[in-house]
Amino acid sequence: MPIATRAFAAVASDQPLRPYSLQRRDPGPADVVIDIQYCGVCHSDLHAVKNDSGGTRYPLVPGHEIVGVVIAVGDEVARHKVGNRVGVGCMVDSCRTCPSCAGGEEQYCQTGTTWTYASRDPGGEAVGQTQTQGGYSDRITVDQAFVLSIPDNLPLDAAAPLLCAGVTTYSPLRHWKVGPGSRVAVVGLGGLGHMAVKLAVAMGAEVTVISTSDRKKADAERMGARHFLINRDREAMKAAMGRFDLIINTVSATYEISGTLSLLGLNGTMVMLGLTTEDLPVRAMPLIMRRRSVAGSLIGGIRETQEMLDFCGQHNITSEIELIAPDEISHAYERMERSDVRYRFVVDMSRLSAES
Ligand code: NAP
Ligand code: ZN
Ligand code: ZN
Repeated sequence: MPIATRAFAAVASDQPLRPYSLQRRDPGPADVVIDIQYCGVCHSDLHAVKNDSGGTRYPLVPGHEIVGVVIAVGDEVARHKVGNRVGVGCMVDSCRTCPSCAGGEEQYCQTGTTWTYASRDPGGEAVGQTQTQGGYSDRITVDQAFVLSIPDNLPLDAAAPLLCAGVTTYSPLRHWKVGPGSRVAVVGLGGLGHMAVKLAVAMGAEVTVISTSDRKKADAERMGARHFLINRDREAMKAAMGRFDLIINTVSATYEISGTLSLLGLNGTMVMLGLTTEDLPVRAMPLIMRRRSVAGSLIGGIRETQEMLDFCGQHNITSEIELIAPDEISHAYERMERSDVRYRFVVDMSRLSAES
């Protein structure tokens, strides 16, 4: 019997999300069925709903910061038990054999990662799903290899954003070997940005936030940032030239980055995380003069996601959240578009059951 699932779906790029029903597959031998309790709202959900990069097929159930409790497992499942607190991030499958998958970086699967939503759904055909549908829903069936364990000391609602915002910032901080003495700047204090600040501070770095206004200054300092710059303040930006080893750029829109590049010191790297679709205006000279790099990074692998969750458990790191009901998601999107987010909206799925 397929699993009847209530959800909230986008039906067009310019309409509010609305209640939607779908079926999840019955658990196969390696599957875990999760009763979803909370799901974070990532700016990538908004990009997908607005069809920013083209190719969105409606109805679409977004959501890839999923946490909940296991309610059933297949016969071969050894990693998770009924009653365990678990999470699912941006991926639900991959080929598992290519060099990227073998190296634990399933997000770079060379034959194509199966994303939590908007991917072709190999297991969905039996239940009439042509594409994967995400976490703005009350049930999901996922292969155990893509299900993470949430440390006991972390509240589930505030842990949800770790599944995307957490690992997306943790991965480049680790890749570029941030530690005590590192000077890290975080551009954009939204969902990803505030996780980058907390994680980099916990790794021992000296962190600076670069924001569009001073509205979030007190919050940034409370999260452990030592310095705060406003990107339009030319004097302050000039004074910070050459100061950073790593810049984590989480801006969700295309903007002029050459000024920010000059803030890097010798061999410094700016990692672009925002899913902007336009060309980045980069001048060669600031790159050449200090052997600087511009790089990109995509979420993190499953092994690294568990490592990040355990790190957050040890350091008591969670997201700062605003809990909302499913019928408030579209309003939350409007607020995200105005950068009015402190610092992640999380949908309370128990309010889905009551409403639909
Ligand atoms: P968010 O919560 O909406 O935060 C984005 C922040 O960017 C805003 O709070 C704002 O910071 C800043 N910003 C927005 N528009 C700006 C502009 N025109 N100029 C300068 N700054 C601006 O978004 P998010 O969920 O953190 O996601 C950020 C981006 O990362 C999105 O594009 C998302 O799709 C992408 N993403 C990528 C990955 C990956 O694997 N690479 C994973 C998840 C998300 P201030 O208020 O401080 O100015
Ligand atoms: Zn995301
Ligand atoms: Zn692969």
